[in-house]
Amino acid sequence: MAEACSCTPNLHGLLSYEAALERLIAAAKPLDVQEWVDLRRALGRVAAAAVHSTIDVPGWDYSAMDGYVLRAKDCMAEGTRLPVSQRIPAGASPMPLEPGTAARIFTGAPIPEGADCVVIQEVCEADDDQVTINTVPGAGDNIRLRGEDIGAGSQVIAAGTRLLPQHLGLAASVGVPELAVLRPPRVAVLASGDELVMPGEALTPGKIYNSNLFTATALLQALGCEVIDLGIVEDTLEATKEAISHGAEQADLVLASGGVSVGEEDHVKPAVEALGTLDMWKIAIRPGKPVAFGHVHGTPFIGSPGNPVSLFVTFVLFVRPFLLRLQGRDDWLPQPVRVRADFDWLKPDKRREFHRARVEYDTEGVARMQVHPSRSSAVLSSVTWANGLAVIPECQVIRQGDEIDFLPFCELLA
Ligand code: AMP
Ligand code: MG
Repeated sequence: MAEACSCTPNLHGLLSYEAALERLIAAAKPLDVQEWVDLRRALGRVAAAAVHSTIDVPGWDYSAMDGYVLRAKDCMAEGTRLPVSQRIPAGASPMPLEPGTAARIFTGAPIPEGADCVVIQEVCEADDDQVTINTVPGAGDNIRLRGEDIGAGSQVIAAGTRLLPQHLGLAASVGVPELAVLRPPRVAVLASGDELVMPGEALTPGKIYNSNLFTATALLQALGCEVIDLGIVEDTLEATKEAISHGAEQADLVLASGGVSVGEEDHVKPAVEALGTLDMWKIAIRPGKPVAFGHVHGTPFIGSPGNPVSLFVTFVLFVRPFLLRLQGRDDWLPQPVRVRADFDWLKPDKRREFHRARVEYDTEGVARMQVHPSRSSAVLSSVTWANGLAVIPECQVIRQGDEIDFLPFCELLA
């Protein structure tokens, strides 16, 4: 049982995670521009409209096995011999079954009119044009029924579905060769900071490599977005305004990393305020407390703290739901699973922590969650060590064995 600690969950003007998410989702206007794509290019896209089947699948009753098709009432005893009156391979269009006979049939072949069961070939003995049936079959045996998978007129894909391989197969199975999908959201990304250099360049004193641009680009690509790379933006008001303005003219969202604090070297806030509107949200979470949300030329803007872990967590917790909503998806709220903690967390924070965690299964198949020892939002290697985020409730001591929420990366990165 989880226990409360002595700290009190007084938010002191901080916004709760839920409230911040609610505001973001309310501001995300689903894109309405659609295009048609061939099924082979539709993976990961979002269906712009529902797809309905015009046919039954399967289109007729057919055999689920290789064997003999007959009428159950013609075979009331084991060892019944019947003449074989026709051969029905898959793709054939059979004649009605002559009463008192069996027909050779193969998997996928239509059931002839008058027949009502298929006997598997393993319990039959064929000789010349006769077959001995060494079982007593029942009506319906080994027959797949017309419309068993999909009935004509039924919906096979809902609008707003992110298309997975199985959706594309299902669309093909009802004869649809292409799908209406939403235009991918265009997201302009910039990394602010005079200390940043690009990988491949020399690292001079005081400089660090710009990792956020790459993390953000890949996170966006994983969600099917088109990325407009605005590169590194120097720490001046003019450069920051120019980059954000340029991004806002082309994109559905401008995403900035770094420079959202209120220090002298943080120009994102004044830049967005000069160009449009901005709210600075202090959110009651760790990491990722300051998140900036605003609009520039009518285009939404999200600014994340520059620390690499904060950028990652801010993205999966806020930017991702926003982009899913932009794509008309309803499944934007990350779904945690409950996992038993294999650690003690004795000094909880007043803010909810989304801490890098790793779930593994022990030899008994029991899931065990470890957390990374570092709480620093600068330690990016902790994110590659992790396979999800532990959700550590505000002001709550966690002891080994307590069950807490875990957000697996497989849930958050697509
Ligand atoms: P800031 O939010 O600009 O105050 O940056 C916070 C910390 O994150 C500083 O240590 C920055 O050097 C680091 N940082 C900012 N942007 C990036 C980036 N694009 N890649 C890696 N680290 C960054
Ligand atoms: Mg900075």
